[in-house]
Amino acid sequence: MSDLSMLINGLKVTAEKGATFERRNPLDGSVATRAPAASPADAVMAVESAAEAFKTWSETGPNERRALLLKAADALEAKLPKFVEAVAAETGATGMWAGFNTMLAASMIREAASLTTQVAGEVIPSDVPGSLAMGVRQPAGVVLGIAPWNAPIILGVRAICVPLACGNTVIFKGSENCPRTHQLIAEAFQDAGFPPGVVNYITNAPADAGAVVEAMVAHPAVRRVNFTGSTKVGKIIAMTCAKYLKPVVLELGGKAPMVILDDANIEDAVNGAAFGAFANSGQICMSTERIIVDQKIADEFVKKFSDKAKNLPLGDPRKPEPVVLGSVIGQGTVDHCNALIDDALAKGAKLLCGGKADSTLMPATVLDHVTPAMRIYHEETFGPVKCVVRVKGVEEAIACANDNEYGLSAAVFGGDIARAFNVARKIDSGICHVNGPTVHDEAQMPFGGVKGSGIGRFGGKAGIAEFTELRWITLQTTPRHYPF
Ligand code: NAD
Repeated sequence: MSDLSMLINGLKVTAEKGATFERRNPLDGSVATRAPAASPADAVMAVESAAEAFKTWSETGPNERRALLLKAADALEAKLPKFVEAVAAETGATGMWAGFNTMLAASMIREAASLTTQVAGEVIPSDVPGSLAMGVRQPAGVVLGIAPWNAPIILGVRAICVPLACGNTVIFKGSENCPRTHQLIAEAFQDAGFPPGVVNYITNAPADAGAVVEAMVAHPAVRRVNFTGSTKVGKIIAMTCAKYLKPVVLELGGKAPMVILDDANIEDAVNGAAFGAFANSGQICMSTERIIVDQKIADEFVKKFSDKAKNLPLGDPRKPEPVVLGSVIGQGTVDHCNALIDDALAKGAKLLCGGKADSTLMPATVLDHVTPAMRIYHEETFGPVKCVVRVKGVEEAIACANDNEYGLSAAVFGGDIARAFNVARKIDSGICHVNGPTVHDEAQMPFGGVKGSGIGRFGGKAGIAEFTELRWITLQTTPRHYPF
């Protein structure tokens, strides 16, 4: 069991009155972590520390920021064994998932390091004689980053690394479900030697999330907010940000469609679907949630897909044998998925493999012949329970892919690349891969969704636009003419 502290102004601190909360292991209920339960006053202290540090951090040159970020990437990688242990204890996820998270998160920090010299502006032609007019990108101020537990290292790092590269200071609000895992990220930045107050880390009890977040959003020094999590909470955050007129990047839920056209390579489609659907037990925002397959090849596809799914190893990730599916995050996911299975079967779906679970060790489950009358057609499962929808032809496939409130990731599998590409262009999502899985993330790519999946983009230059202030600054180089 880990006893945690928060990081405010470079110091390890407890919460006001020593308040704490516990995170329990989802499989056996043992206490995994005891973490400080910040009050709104603690959160405001973190903002004030970041505001003070902003005065000097925003003036640092790109090479200084880059050097520290590169050290943080190394420090993060060095914590791999600790991440593996913390992720398994707090979220039930596998060593493979923790390893992948650490690798991609380190690459995100290195990409952010390379962006420090890309925070560039432009000279814009002016109609005023002698006016040198510039669009200048400046650090925005204090950035609040809020990350969830499901890809904890990637999403925690993503919430802070590009904001830091742009010269902002940050408050990282960890998830109540993985406070230790998220604290290791803050520790990596501290180990790298970031000055006090540039990176602050706070944790809160679940019931206090709304008050703690609002106290920070309301603070005048906080100039940007980013949130990764559910669409339901994302809407609450959007309303809080609207109240205080704070720009916000929202990376929310998904229900990614994978379209399999009649000329697709079936083996490729099976492998892409299995990886997209069952990596981290389906608890990824880009998870393949709807497999939309042309009826001409549906029988062959579902046979091979369910054969593969039913053989994926499942077990306690803390044991030595490697598994593909570990524990899901909690009983809530089990109950939600079981209800979706009951509903679909009652309305005529066919169970191909897996089925209802009686613990957080949920098997890979596939339902065939899913229709719009069923809840699972529309609702995010966020677990290893996936549906197959059979369609006739390309137009029906596109219509089905777009028949959803979300629009984060998507995939199209097809032999005629031009046809598959044109299907991809018609899918209403932020991300779409042709002949590749829906689950795919790289640090330098513009990552984000449309519709219920959110607003704004992380990644590469898109991140610079989100986390800097674009200012118009002029320099009058000759005497200016005035009308009076
Ligand atoms: P969640 O929305 O329940 O919680 C995320 C965060 O919201 C937590 O840190 C919590 O403290 C905070 N929160 C909860 N109530 C709040 C309130 N009233 N006011 C302010 N903050 C509050 O999400 P989750 O269950 O932890 O994560 C899973 C969801 O995240 C899924 O829907 C998934 O699709 C989505 N997700 C999206 C992306 C993406 O990049 N688009 C990535 C990963 C996960």
